[in-house]
Amino acid sequence: MTEKSWLKGNLHTHTTNSDGDESPEHVAEWYHEHGYDWLCLSDHDHLTILEGTAAEKAKWPLLVHGEEVTSRGANGPVHVNGYGVTEVVKASDSDDIVTAMRENVERIIAAGGMASINHPNFRWAFDGGAMMQVEGYKFMEVFNGHPESHNEGGGGKTSTVGIWDRLLSQNRRVWGIAVDDAHHYTGEFTANRSNPGRGWVQVRASSLSQQDIYEAMSDGDFYASTGVTIGGLTASMSEIKLEIDPETTPSDGIQAKYTTVFTGANGRVLHESISNSPSYKPTRLDGYVRATVYSSRGTRAWTQPVFTGD
Ligand SMILES: [Zn+2]
Ligand SMILES: [Zn+2]
Repeated sequence: MTEKSWLKGNLHTHTTNSDGDESPEHVAEWYHEHGYDWLCLSDHDHLTILEGTAAEKAKWPLLVHGEEVTSRGANGPVHVNGYGVTEVVKASDSDDIVTAMRENVERIIAAGGMASINHPNFRWAFDGGAMMQVEGYKFMEVFNGHPESHNEGGGGKTSTVGIWDRLLSQNRRVWGIAVDDAHHYTGEFTANRSNPGRGWVQVRASSLSQQDIYEAMSDGDFYASTGVTIGGLTASMSEIKLEIDPETTPSDGIQAKYTTVFTGANGRVLHESISNSPSYKPTRLDGYVRATVYSSRGTRAWTQPVFTGD
């Protein structure tokens, strides 16, 4: 059996082929220089595919094909990422949120891709109710690094993770991803700009190839992160066990501290642990079990759910 390893990638990125402020080549170099193994250049309604010489490719991460299929109807934006699409997908022009979402997902699947529902709380466009009316998408963004994405919800609006729990509780098999949605690579890097490096996924794949990355993503063999590193992860009906790699301050060797929360159906907290090797044994009654790791540095990681009815 081939040994699998963790490969870091960002699934949502813009370049000058849409509203990003740098060329695809520069953006690819930024991610390579910052330790990413792979990257999806997901421009609005444009399939950015970089052809390069061997010398150029050595400066880029592996590029995975994708597009942000972008509906701008009167009732709010419906952006759906298509991963692995083989041709440009035309966005739905419906004004109805659910229709636009359904058509975008269907068109992505017809183009050979996997669909991901982006930033539900961007302009407070839609919530879990709309997402429950659409089928066929594999992913949703539980963290989006764009400052207008309102991941945490509030004021009566459900957080993106809360929406995820609602879908999972109704037995929808949706994996949660963290992404940059980066647009700004020049000038100052500040919280109110959409800079790269904020959210990513670590997929467990046998090789650094598009096919193996798609396969790991499709199987949910990955975790989402905004800074927490999980070195070891086993997730099955018998046990979910994590090995957290603690972040250490180089100057004084001080380690961050972690709390891991295991969540089940309807967002119920099943177990909480302060160990760096937290574990939980699911029961049939849990419905599903997923883990969130909270770091004292403010960063997080989310593992994918195990469905206990399977
Ligand atoms: Zn978007
Ligand atoms: Zn975007």
